[in-house]
This record gives sequence, structure tokens and C-alpha cells, in this order.
Amino acid sequence: MGVFLDSVPFSGIIRIRDMMYTVRDPFRLDQGDVSFDAPDSVKTAMHRAIDENRSHYLQTTGVPRLLDLLAEKLRHRNGIPVAASDEVMVTTGGIHGLYIICQGLLEPGDEVVIPDPEWPPAAGNILAAHGVPVPCALHERLGWRYDLAELASTIGPSTRAIYVNSPNNPSGGVLTREDLQAIGDLCRERGLWLISDEAYEDVVFEGEHVSPASLHGMYERTISLFTFSKSYAMTGLRLGYVVAQSPQLRERMKKALFYTASNVASVVQFGGIGALEGPQNSIDAFRQELKSRRDFFYAGIREAAGHVFTGDPPRGAFYAFLRINPEWKAPAEITTTSQSWGMTEFLISRGRIGCVPGVDFGQNGEGYLRFCFARDRRELTGALESMRTLFA
Ligand code: PLP
Repeated sequence: MGVFLDSVPFSGIIRIRDMMYTVRDPFRLDQGDVSFDAPDSVKTAMHRAIDENRSHYLQTTGVPRLLDLLAEKLRHRNGIPVAASDEVMVTTGGIHGLYIICQGLLEPGDEVVIPDPEWPPAAGNILAAHGVPVPCALHERLGWRYDLAELASTIGPSTRAIYVNSPNNPSGGVLTREDLQAIGDLCRERGLWLISDEAYEDVVFEGEHVSPASLHGMYERTISLFTFSKSYAMTGLRLGYVVAQSPQLRERMKKALFYTASNVASVVQFGGIGALEGPQNSIDAFRQELKSRRDFFYAGIREAAGHVFTGDPPRGAFYAFLRINPEWKAPAEITTTSQSWGMTEFLISRGRIGCVPGVDFGQNGEGYLRFCFARDRRELTGALESMRTLFA
């Protein structure tokens, strides 16, 4: 790595975070974090683990009980034909899962087709593994889904994998079963891997979440990535997991896992056991509350800034990805040529409203802005009131 890492960019989200620290009483709609707390089942399990001195080294890929519970969950909730618990490995959050996938899978110069717009660490992790991210547009007119012929046309001799992320961050687009079937066929025909990032599997408001590895014949060429962050409000605890059938690939990923973490923090793994053994009703409760926040935020935007921001409510994830009126011009002191950065700087400096410029997620996101509506209602209301004043 060394000097090479100079060419791997940080996400603009880091720059925004720094800008937000200079703002008093900010509305942090820039952060992709839920305002809920982890369920009691998680906290109780972690307390018990501390009391029982579970503070020693563990198996590299995860404690057996957690792996068994995850294999069970993947079979029953996701429909993935996991044959044995050792097909699963736990990671320090989903982002670390993606890191070990890219390190385990890619040769220098291998191309991976990614959605545009997309959560920036997807491209970052591919680059860090000496791979080449190749963007393929998600289209607003298709509900932020692919034009499948366009997706097929991005595949070339160096393509090694297609990375899909449904529901998508930032657009909230949800791929249909037919989309995933077609993408699966493409992978089979062209001999490609499918990397499926299912961080928002439990946040689908309309339609269904489909795990591509559950589709006929797809498990053997799909590497699926999940996280406890969003489903169990465990963002800071850092617990994710990866499932793949190929023993050779798993062995490579295990090395990347071992050399970066040795094992995932013990107490956190016991928290994960608590999450899976405990009642699952918090997942539905979170989703219902997120849906009502989505509707509240979109109604508020229409009323406070409908002439500036437009877009349909997302079918999944918890972001409003809104088109900025092209007529809008930033005030003279904001000198950036990017409209989405201009609007971001304006909202942060004049309105105390955190948001992320669409272009940070890819060129196709230019002209858009991302707001997280998983924040609490006080924060959402504050941001909407601030917008009402700014755009009156
Ligand atoms: N994948 C996507 C698309 C995400 O948006 C996120 C987090 O925002 C993750 C993966 C990883 O989350 P974490 O590292 O908190 O598990």
C-alpha cells in the first residue's frame, strides 16, 4: 500500500463532518445513522459478556454460537442455501466486510461495476484492493434502478464482479426480483461474481427485499454482505458479516480478516448473539417509524422548499435524495462550481442543516442532495423550519 493509498480518496462525508463541527446546534441530516438505540437484548447480552469476563481472544471468523445463529437467519430470512456455519464470517461492521471481500477477490486492474450514485466506500474499498470501480447509472426515472442493457454494456474483458446495493444508499432505489434475476443471468453468462451489499435489507417500505444469493444457482457466485448497524441500531458497535460458498475465497477473506482485526471485539459479538436470540419486533418498529419519518419529511419539504427540492419518496433505506432546482444559484461567497456542493455549503453555513452533495456518490449524483430522515423528529422539524426561512 504505502504511497498507493494517496490515490484512494476519502469520502466527502468526512469533509462535511468537519464542517458540521464548526456549526452550533446543527441538524445532522448528513449522518447515515439512526436515532434509535440498540434493543435491550443487545445491551443485556453485552453486560453479561462483560460480567462473565468474555474479554479474551476468539475464533477469527466469529464465535460459533453467533455463526450458527447467522447461518440460520440467512437460511430462513434471506432464503440463502447456507450449508454450514463456516460459510459465514463476522466482521467489524459492513465496511470491513466489504474490505475483506475486495481484498479476497480482486487482482490488480480487475474492474467492478458499481451503481452511480453509490455509498462512497464501495469505490474506496475496490480502489484500496487495486481494483477499478466502473460506475453504471441508476436512473431516477426508473425508481433509481438500472437500465439493464446499459448495465450489460459496462461489462468488458477486465470485469470481475458486479456490486449491487439494494436498497441503495443514497437513492433509496430497490431492485426488483426480475432485476436481480437478470443481473444473475448476466453474471452466469459472463463468468462474473456478484457482490451483494444488503445493509438496508430490513428497510424496505414498498416492495420486497430479495437476496440475490437466494435465486436459483446464484449462491455459488454471490458474496453477500450484511450489517447489524441499521437493523439493530448498532452503528457504533461495528458488527457485520459476510457469507460465501467458495472455500478458496473464504480462506483468502479470512486472511484479510485476521490481519486487520484478529477477531471482532468479543463483547460486541455477544451483543450480536443477544440481538438474534432476542425478540425481533424492534426491526418492524424501526421500519414503521422510519416510514412515518419519511412521509413527514417529504410533506415538510414540499411545503417548505418544494420549489427548490423535488423527488419521489424512496422505496427503501432512509435517505431523501432530492433533485436541486437547476435555476438555484449559490450566493457569491460560495465559489464551488458543483451545484450540489454549493447547496451543501449554503445549507450548512446559513441553515445549520447537514446534508451530503449528490456528486459525492458519483457523477450521476450531481445536481442532487442527500438528507438522512432516520434522525429524530426534533432534528427533522428543526431542519425543515430552517429551510422554510432560507427559501421563503
Ligand atoms: N453498505 C452501505 C450501502 C451502507 O450505506 C453502509 C453504511 O452506511 C454500510 C454498507 C456499512 O455499514 P457499517 O460499516 O456501519 O456496518
